[in-house]
Amino acid sequence: MKPLGVPREYNYIAVFLSLSCNLACPYCINLNEEGSTRSKVSRRHLGAKEWIAFLNSLEIGREDLPITLQGGEPTMHKEFYDIVNGVRDDLKLDLLTNFMFDVDEFIACVDPKKFTRDAKYAAIRVSYHPGQNEINDLIVRHHKMRDAGFYVGLYAVMTPWNEAHIKEVQMKCLAEGIDFRVKEYLGFDGDRWHGTYKYPEAISQKVEKYCECKTTELIVGPNGGVYRCHSDLYENRTPVAYVMDEGFEIEDIYRPCYVFGHCNPCDIKIKTNRFQEFGHTSVDIRNIRELAADEKI
Ligand code: SF4
Ligand code: SF4
Repeated sequence: MKPLGVPREYNYIAVFLSLSCNLACPYCINLNEEGSTRSKVSRRHLGAKEWIAFLNSLEIGREDLPITLQGGEPTMHKEFYDIVNGVRDDLKLDLLTNFMFDVDEFIACVDPKKFTRDAKYAAIRVSYHPGQNEINDLIVRHHKMRDAGFYVGLYAVMTPWNEAHIKEVQMKCLAEGIDFRVKEYLGFDGDRWHGTYKYPEAISQKVEKYCECKTTELIVGPNGGVYRCHSDLYENRTPVAYVMDEGFEIEDIYRPCYVFGHCNPCDIKIKTNRFQEFGHTSVDIRNIRELAADEKI
C-alpha cells in the first residue's frame, strides 16, 4: 500500500480489531438489541495480512500518537499476535482490553517494547467491569504482566450507583502499586446526563438535524471501514471509506451529517487530549440546522 499520511490535527487512532467480546456487560455499547455483539451484522473482519499492510502504511511521524487496538475485546481477533508482531517496530501500540486473555500466551508472544512509549498513562489499559471481571484476578494478571516488563493500568468507570465499590477497589489497587484510574461516567442515569459536552443537544436523542462534522480521530472498524465517529461505528452506519480501497486517503475535512442529535457521548464530551490537556472534543460541528423536508428519512 502507498504511504498514508495522518493529518497533524488527528489526536487518536482507534483500530477496532473485533467488536466481539468474552464478557457481557449489560451496559455495553457494542451489544445489539438481542444482546449479542454488533460484529455479527458487519462484514467480515480484516485478516492479519490486511491489517498489517494498512497499519504499516501509516505515516504518523509522532511518537505521541499511538495506534490503539480496541474493541469489543481486541485480543479476540484470531490473528491478534500476528498483527501485533507484524506491525513496524517504530509504530507505537496501545491496547484497551478487559484482560480476559491468556496472560502467559501474551507474555510469550509479545515483546514489551511493542507496548512501551513515553506517556503519562499506561499503553495497556484494562477496564474493570464489576460483576464481569474479578478484581483479585485482575491484580494477579497485572502483576504477572508487570513482572514481564509491561506497563498495565487499570481503569473503572465511576458509575453513580457503584461509587463506594469503585473507591474501595481503587484503594486496594493503589496499595498494590497499580496505576488505577477512574473514568467519568458518561450517560443518562434516568434523571440527567453525566459528563460535560460541547454540543449537549447532539446526544439528546430528541432531535435529528443536519450539520457538518469534522473528526480528529481515525476510527477503523473490524471490516476496515473508516467512520466519521463512534456513533457511526456502533450504529453500523455506512463508513466513509474502507482502508483497503484503492487510493484511500485520510482526509481532514468537514462531512455532512443528517443524524445530529444521535451522537455518541464519546465524540461530544469535553475531555483531555493525548497530552492529558483538558478541553479537547473529538469532533468539531458547524452549520447545525433543521432537516429540510426532503432530507428526512
Ligand atoms: S468488556 Fe467492554 S466490550 Fe466487553 S461486554 Fe463489557 S463493555 Fe462490552
Ligand atoms: S454529528 Fe454526531 S453522528 Fe454526525 S458525524 Fe458528527 S459525531 Fe457523528
